[in-house]
Amino acid sequence: MAPSKPRVIYWFRTDLRLHDSPALKAALDLKPECLYPVWCWDPHYVYRARVGPNRWQYLLDCQSDLSASITKLNPKSKLFLIREAPQTLLAKLFKAWKITHIVFEKDTDAYARDRDENVVSQAKGAGVEVIIKMGRTLYDPDELVRANGGRPTMSITQVQKAGEKLGEVAKPIPAPKFLPDPGDTSLDFEHTQPSPNPDFNNIQRDEDDQSYNALAGPKGDFAVPTMAELGLKPASSQHRGGETIALKMLDEIISNTQYTATFSKPDTAPTAFAPQATTLLSPHHHFGSLSVRLLYWRVMDVLASYKGKQSTIPTNLIGQLLFRDMYFGAQAPLGYCFAQTVGNSHCRFIPWHLPSKIDPSNGLITGDHHIDTPEAETWFQRWKWGKTGFPWIDALMRQLRYEGWIHHLGRHAVACFLTRGGCYIDWERGAEVFEEWLIDHEVACNTGNWQWLSCTAFYSQFYRCYSPIAFPKKTDAKGEFVRHFCPELKDYPDKYIYEPWKAPIADQKKAGCLIKGDGDDTEGEGGMKIYPKPMFDFNARRTICIDAIKNAYHVNLYGDNPKVKDGTWRELFSDSAEGPTEGKSAKDASSANGNGEAKVKSGEEASGDMGVDQDEDEAAEVGGETRGGDRQGKRKRGKGKGQETLDGHFGGKRAKR
Ligand code: FAD
Ligand code: MG
Repeated sequence: MAPSKPRVIYWFRTDLRLHDSPALKAALDLKPECLYPVWCWDPHYVYRARVGPNRWQYLLDCQSDLSASITKLNPKSKLFLIREAPQTLLAKLFKAWKITHIVFEKDTDAYARDRDENVVSQAKGAGVEVIIKMGRTLYDPDELVRANGGRPTMSITQVQKAGEKLGEVAKPIPAPKFLPDPGDTSLDFEHTQPSPNPDFNNIQRDEDDQSYNALAGPKGDFAVPTMAELGLKPASSQHRGGETIALKMLDEIISNTQYTATFSKPDTAPTAFAPQATTLLSPHHHFGSLSVRLLYWRVMDVLASYKGKQSTIPTNLIGQLLFRDMYFGAQAPLGYCFAQTVGNSHCRFIPWHLPSKIDPSNGLITGDHHIDTPEAETWFQRWKWGKTGFPWIDALMRQLRYEGWIHHLGRHAVACFLTRGGCYIDWERGAEVFEEWLIDHEVACNTGNWQWLSCTAFYSQFYRCYSPIAFPKKTDAKGEFVRHFCPELKDYPDKYIYEPWKAPIADQKKAGCLIKGDGDDTEGEGGMKIYPKPMFDFNARRTICIDAIKNAYHVNLYGDNPKVKDGTWRELFSDSAEGPTEGKSAKDASSANGNGEAKVKSGEEASGDMGVDQDEDEAAEVGGETRGGDRQGKRKRGKGKGQETLDGHFGGKRAKR
């Protein structure tokens, strides 16, 4: 009997596109008799990942656009969206549709690896051949790690060196011109409905989620779910997803050869909006609606022919993509632990306020946190909701909530403020808020960048903090950005726009907005708006934070140290050190809770000149490598050393205690 032709499931996940998809090409190279483009509506993401309405909408946009593009190539085909977990669904599809092959893009995220291992073993059991191809990053993160001596990539230099060993980044593959028919699509099997508990996204929903009511959706046509089915509020962001939009954006960027060839991240303004100063391609990379390899090669082509002076790695666009690969290469070998301090061999332990609760059964963070001081919790909530009383910080956090995207340096500003340069709150709290609100949320990039900003990994120049006043002034002296996102301040005089608490009452009244309270009231008597007083004296907090981090660097523990796990790290800190450091015994430690004393003056007393003193060249840190940096760093390291020497430069060797 002649071997039958392949019947293939193409499983879409991180690759919502037709162009430059090595996995899709591999599927088509099988010359299949039928090809089923499938998306499994996975309850892990529906319930267990934090996703706000803006990223949901972006996903649905990408799926709808892809489905339409598939149908354009073959009117009988579309994206078959099936509402069940892949771990239970795929084996049933193998049988129902007589599948011979399943093909998908490789995903090195921790959950994805577990899921795929499970699916691969089921496929093997069912005699279905599995083909997996990388296409999500410039290099396969596992290969990058291997070329880096088996270690996580913690610097751009390491990525470059490892990349050289791996050879040239693969050239993009054109989109297919033809897609085979799907076969019979009947679903004659039991629907395994997931449990919605716990539903991390309950807070986003106006109504219960209905998306699992029927396998092929309410009309049985495999349609992309709607926001209403998900019980979600409409998206507030203007940023929309989909390969069609992504390719148009790419064309526009590349056609501006000067912008492309001279792009230098530290010189782009975080205060620019409509339009923003950088490409805003990150959510497309996240959903795979734009291939990073296509961007890479189109930029390389511009660089090859551009005659003027060009920017270079790490600040140019190629450098930005290398940073992305760096974080994937850091995450790949560390797995779940990469996204947390506890158990993470590469993340410094700092006794932050509001530490995560840890599930003793697996050592992973639960998504809940200890409230060691009510004051820190208040600061955290005011930060999250854009009510800190620092207009620059509040404007950024509101842009994040409404639009789902903020400029890289804006992310720097709010992340530094929450952690080492203001609140001394655990970076894991900040990463969770970003996970909820970013449209480009990517576990590897979000985690890695939060570690960078909190000086717990990748970067260690904690002396350099962002002032919420001086920093935005550099690119936006008139405060247009603040006026847009904090409209209650729109009529403030330029000189008070970043420090409205300094405005005399008469000016406050004239501008129609009083500076008072803690952000609970937004409207006062006579239609007067209200904007909060600053929640603390920034300069005082910065000093406290820097001293505290310096101390923690001396103690020199990493997340995998047994003392971090069992709570005896407290023995190494004085009770009066910043953070939940009280109580020498492990017993006290594991119940880090209650209400520690407040050590700082509250915002009510904050006055005077708040924070203009800062590094002139702080924006340089965006490039990644040590470019100047803090005075201490200069003295210690001398010039020109790669940042891989930085991780642990303070005290050198790790504490073995
Ligand atoms: P561009 O400057 O135009 O860069 C081009 C592309 O390079 C981006 O689309 C992105 O894919 C990649 N890139 C650029 N900078 C970085 C970087 N530092 N790390 C990784 N990739 C980068 N980026 C995410 O994609 N997802 C996240 O969840 C995320 N969380 C972050 C959290 C914090 C605290 C910080 C400081 C940064 C975070 N970033 C994250 C990185 C960076 O801010 C965004 O990738 C970038 O701002 C996206 O805008 P853009 O597309 O205009 O970038
Ligand atoms: Mg303490």
